[in-house]
Amino acid sequence: MIGKTLGNRYEIVEKIGGGGMALVYKAKCQLLNRYVAVKILRPEFTSDEEFIRNFGRESQAAASLSHPNIVNIYDVGNDDEIYYIVMEYVKGNTLKQIIKEKGSFEPDDTINVAKQIALALEHAHNNHIVHRDIKPHNILLTEDGRVKVTDFGIARAVTSSTVTNAGNVIGSVHYFSPEQARGGYTDEKSDLYSLGIVIYEMITGRVPFEGDSPISIALKHINNEIILPTIIKKNTPKAIEDIIIKATQKDQSRRYNSAREVLDDLNQALRFPMGSFVKFEEDDSPTQIIPAIKDEDIRYNTAAVGERLRAKKNNGKMIFWTAVISAFILAIIVTGTIFFFNDQLKGNEKEIPGVVGKTYEEAKTNIENLGLKINISSEQFNSQVEEGHIISQTPAAREIVKEGYTIQVIVSKGPQLVEVPNLINKRLDEIDMLLENESLKKVVKYEYHTLPVGIIISQNPKSRERVPKGSSVNIVVSQGEELKSILMSNLVGEEVNTAKRTLENSGLITGKTDYVFHSTVAKDIVLSQSIPQGTEVEENSVVDLIVSKGAENVGQPTEENELPMKSVSFRLKYDDAKQEEFIIKIVIIQNGVSTIYYSGVHQKSKSSQETLTIEGRGKAAIEIYFDTVLIARKQIDFETGAIYD
Ligand code: ATP
Ligand code: MG
Repeated sequence: MIGKTLGNRYEIVEKIGGGGMALVYKAKCQLLNRYVAVKILRPEFTSDEEFIRNFGRESQAAASLSHPNIVNIYDVGNDDEIYYIVMEYVKGNTLKQIIKEKGSFEPDDTINVAKQIALALEHAHNNHIVHRDIKPHNILLTEDGRVKVTDFGIARAVTSSTVTNAGNVIGSVHYFSPEQARGGYTDEKSDLYSLGIVIYEMITGRVPFEGDSPISIALKHINNEIILPTIIKKNTPKAIEDIIIKATQKDQSRRYNSAREVLDDLNQALRFPMGSFVKFEEDDSPTQIIPAIKDEDIRYNTAAVGERLRAKKNNGKMIFWTAVISAFILAIIVTGTIFFFNDQLKGNEKEIPGVVGKTYEEAKTNIENLGLKINISSEQFNSQVEEGHIISQTPAAREIVKEGYTIQVIVSKGPQLVEVPNLINKRLDEIDMLLENESLKKVVKYEYHTLPVGIIISQNPKSRERVPKGSSVNIVVSQGEELKSILMSNLVGEEVNTAKRTLENSGLITGKTDYVFHSTVAKDIVLSQSIPQGTEVEENSVVDLIVSKGAENVGQPTEENELPMKSVSFRLKYDDAKQEEFIIKIVIIQNGVSTIYYSGVHQKSKSSQETLTIEGRGKAAIEIYFDTVLIARKQIDFETGAIYD
């Protein structure tokens, strides 16, 4: 998979991880030149049509979400049976890995992470998307402590027929709500239950229910009560414990109604860690104020989590009425006091609005209308955020601050523009510095061209155009002229000039033309060609010809001519020949004249040795060439048949 490009756009760089359903890769988006995470469905899921349909629908829905605490989905696609989701690449670790390394979280860190998950859930729930698989594996933490929740809604695509991978179920079942474990109706509150379990794991370092099988864990979610965090970690703040208890109620109606409610309690917990502000669903008893009087009777019952035990019943009438009246008075005092202090604490506190992405003017109006102040801490170039819009804010949205507090914002100057240098007619290997100077990148394509190899033919954007810093320039580089391949035609038997014209017309070059005597073939007729007929050759290949110069001139006999023709045979071995096909040429030198006696193409596969017979008179020297390389020179005495060096 590494090196593969999906959808003509996402080049897979490295594997990041994998879960039950998919493998996750880091990839480079060629179009926008940024890293992305690509989640590729495991092949066993891609054969399931219903799953593919659900998967597509759910990821499209999740793609509509846009929130700083949600991993952005950029694209969903399939390429040759590979189904994938392209997401924002998050540099960091999963919450699961961090819990494993750290053991557990400090209360403040727990609340900070939980708040960001709750913000993500609030946004998704407002858009009617239920996550259904909230677990620390799906929560990514960046190096600067930002939380990003991933895999929204994707769990929904898993139908009963596709839940075959046990790993997937085991990974998630620790966080399943009882209704999920039962396979019942799931909704936003199921996510809040899972969030409760995640908070539990952060603060205690362990999940509340363990078991040998997914089923046994699921059953515990349905039937067992959680062991209270304070029992595992004594110093767990009461507020956090209460939030966990309320979030993980088995009965959906007793849980938090919304992520917003969880957020409100988490914010309170930051300020009053030991406070008892978490409101539990009233039970039927009308005497719940009594425990406030009889303090020593109050305790938590681990077997009936979240439901405070009532104080022991008082039977004496007098005592009863005294209690009721005192309770009433006390209730008024307590409530009054709480309201008084709340006003003191809360009266001029404001929740910071989210202004990231807004124009500065919009942000200023928003912030100042709330009685807060705004200050531009810096202006920065940014390729993602339009000029004049807010890149980031501190403190973050939804933090609570005092009236008059100044919110620092960073405003975008838009992308920094640079001028594209001229690259045309330059060599590919000399443009790197030019591009680097302007922080530009190159995307190279090769094309056949009359320009020499490596020279740039064209560029886009054009020279002197202004483009965002860091963007890519597409360049087309010459790979030289296209070499056509030509089928070699037959030249043997042709008149030499006709043969030469044939070569020229078909884009080939006539090489050496050697003339040899031939007793039967007429003068100027081609005897052999160095490239055999039917061979596929590149344009501009050189073809050598051997041409007959007719029968030997018998009119002016030489000394040898008077001698009878004799033949001498010798053996040639090709064992050491490196190539399969080669030309053997035999040149006879007699009386200071060299004549090519023979030239022909031989194939090693036909035979590893051959016997050649030469006819001649008197004494001569012969030269044997293998592909134009002289490999042997011998003296021959045709009269005696002797061959010597
Ligand atoms: P499940 O199949 O139940 O979702 P999982 O969440 O463990 O199990 P994946 O969702 O496939 O598995 O994710 C595998 C791993 O890939 C994660 O643990 C995380 O390390 C990494 N990962 C996932 N999404 C991203 C992302 N957007 N950026 C960077 N890393 C990611
Ligand atoms: Mg996941």
